[in-house]
Amino acid sequence: MAFVNYIAYEIRNLFSTPATEKFPKEPANFTERYRGHIENDISKCILCGMCMRTCPSNAITVSKPDYSWSIRPFSCVQCKACVDVCPVHCLSMVNSYTEPGAEKTQITNHYSEEQVAKEEEKKKAIAAKVAAAKAAAAAKAAAAAQPAPKAGTETAAAQPAPAAGAEPAGTGETPAPKAEAQPAAVQSVQGEA
Ligand code: SF4
Ligand code: SF4
Repeated sequence: MAFVNYIAYEIRNLFSTPATEKFPKEPANFTERYRGHIENDISKCILCGMCMRTCPSNAITVSKPDYSWSIRPFSCVQCKACVDVCPVHCLSMVNSYTEPGAEKTQITNHYSEEQVAKEEEKKKAIAAKVAAAKAAAAAKAAAAAQPAPKAGTETAAAQPAPAAGAEPAGTGETPAPKAEAQPAAVQSVQGEA
């Protein structure tokens, strides 16, 4: 009986399709949750470095001055922690293996020229704002350092301007009245006495 079952099994196998996939003759059929490799949509990436700090195997390098994001695929353990932590959701776990290529040890994504130009503009705007804030703070500090005028003291600016045609102030001397001539009748009386 066992022999008959074996023959039936073999005959069935001869006329059925293989249980395995025909890769590479046919494209591989990756399952939905297959953890293949990490890809970054660099156009959305803000180079915050959260993925780099989270990665347990230090597979990711983020360089803000160079506007670049890099990954070493052979260091990645497909834990998906970087995908979960990314604030702008530009990382994804692609369910296929890493394509072979010349750049095998490190894959680097760079900002496009437009993105770099935009970032440089932002930097200039921030620098201008900081400079303006510093100048305003310095002016405020200088104004606070000046002594306040005492109460009751008039400043030159507060004094009214002299009217046109008036005598210039500042001599402080009052001209002496001229001596008036005595009347003639009085003089004669004094001579007789
Ligand atoms: S966490 Fe996301 S946005 Fe931040 S550097 Fe990584 S990939 Fe870019
Ligand atoms: S999947 Fe895990 S190991 Fe791979 S780069 Fe992301 S955080 Fe690092």
